[in-house]
Amino acid sequence: MSYMLQGSTGSWEVVIGLEIHAQVISRAKLFSGAATAFGAAPNSQVSFVDAAFPGMLPVINRECVAQAVRTGLGLAARINLVSRFDRKNYFYADLPAGYQISQFEHPIVGAGMVEIELADGSTRRIGVTRLHLEQDAGKSLHDQHPTKSFIDLNRAGVALMEIVSEPDLRSPEEAGAYIRKLRSILRYLGTCDGNMEEGSLRADVNVSVRHPGEALRTRCEVKNVNSVRFVMQAIEAEALRQVQVWESGEEVRQETRLFDPGRGQTRSMRSKEDAHDYRYFPDPDLLPLVLDEAWVAELKAALPELPDARRARFMAEHGLSAYDAAVLVAERATAEYFEEVARGRDAKLAANWVTGARFALLSARGVGIEASPVSAAALGGLLDLITDGTINGRIAKEVFEAMAESGSTAGEIVERKGLRQVTDTGAIDAAVAAVLAANPDKIAAYKSGAEKLFGFFVGQVMRAMAGKGNPALVNEALKRALG
Ligand code: ADP
Ligand code: MG
Repeated sequence: MSYMLQGSTGSWEVVIGLEIHAQVISRAKLFSGAATAFGAAPNSQVSFVDAAFPGMLPVINRECVAQAVRTGLGLAARINLVSRFDRKNYFYADLPAGYQISQFEHPIVGAGMVEIELADGSTRRIGVTRLHLEQDAGKSLHDQHPTKSFIDLNRAGVALMEIVSEPDLRSPEEAGAYIRKLRSILRYLGTCDGNMEEGSLRADVNVSVRHPGEALRTRCEVKNVNSVRFVMQAIEAEALRQVQVWESGEEVRQETRLFDPGRGQTRSMRSKEDAHDYRYFPDPDLLPLVLDEAWVAELKAALPELPDARRARFMAEHGLSAYDAAVLVAERATAEYFEEVARGRDAKLAANWVTGARFALLSARGVGIEASPVSAAALGGLLDLITDGTINGRIAKEVFEAMAESGSTAGEIVERKGLRQVTDTGAIDAAVAAVLAANPDKIAAYKSGAEKLFGFFVGQVMRAMAGKGNPALVNEALKRALG
């Protein structure tokens, strides 16, 4: 399954490490009481601390710390009971203090891991180096006025978790799987909403290439990529570029680059700054952050069931395949919906309906499972009608669509539209006779060996019965008649 690029000097392995910035779900900011809601009027959620008025002092928000600890626990990571905040100094118009409060040498969370699942069914453990807490910056708006830029400080000071991976990823697919899995864990934990369009999850993508077996070569960092698809495209484009640089006899220079999705290329933004360029030093306004072990234990005890554990339970309890279970647990809302549908019913049938028909419908309408037009209880009612033989599986799809349209129950639609399955063998035999009478040539072909035509006859009989025939009885009647 390895992903390699072929060049004139042999094959190249791609090495990727991701830095994910995840906005913490909390009502107030990391060091101030200002609100964090997305989409508020510009500069309506800014305290004197966020605007860096002289003499203002940061006060740490306990909930943000709890969220970072929960996330660390969810990544099976070491929680550092003592951590420290540092000032990372740089000038930017949307950073009024002239520094960002971050954690450099002593982050709140140490080494952990994320297990990813790949398309071929294999899994891999990707190391997480660390997670630290830091402030987000404000936003510069350059497109509102022909000659002016505006600053919106609503985001300034919102808590971010920076989650840094080891350079363990080896392909765009693995990087995509890592982000999706991490996002799923964050959503289960309720520590970040994972919404990449709104910028609550942003990825910096570090890429290098090497011949297999070599030490790591110089990497470039592609900044602020805001969708899984773009991350994968950026890796592909950047790796190809680096192969070309090395093979032309030049060296890849360490730098920060930007991905242009329109062109499918990365371009240089600036040469890479080093830690010493930021003049990190401990923030004198903040004491070291000391956590109580018992409090960490309390947070751990209150963690929800996470995707890996839930997937294992779905396989053991409901007898689902690894694939079905992985699809169902990826989103917490889907997993909960499935469990409600499956309660007291055939789990495989429930899984097929939740993954198949529902996903198709939801993607056609572009709504998430929370906004599903058919509740879990209503879908369960539909499955009961399949199980007790009232309707067949084919008609069930039609009923499901009508449920989504009208909000009626499955039973109401079946009665209103007269969709009950026909088990009357007299009616089935009549339909079979009519279809056979109309297709003498096909009968001859069937009898001289074209067995595939059986499916054609089944389809015709079903059509003659408006889809309502009991499939098993139709099959039997046809076999008898063709006999
Ligand atoms: P910085 O703070 O300068 O961005 P870090 O040491 O924190 O540097 O590393 C950032 C990211 O770069 C990590 O995710 C790490 O796994 C990744 N990384 C480090 N070296 C390489 C390399 N040679 N190729 C690809 N990724 C790398
Ligand atoms: Mg970095």
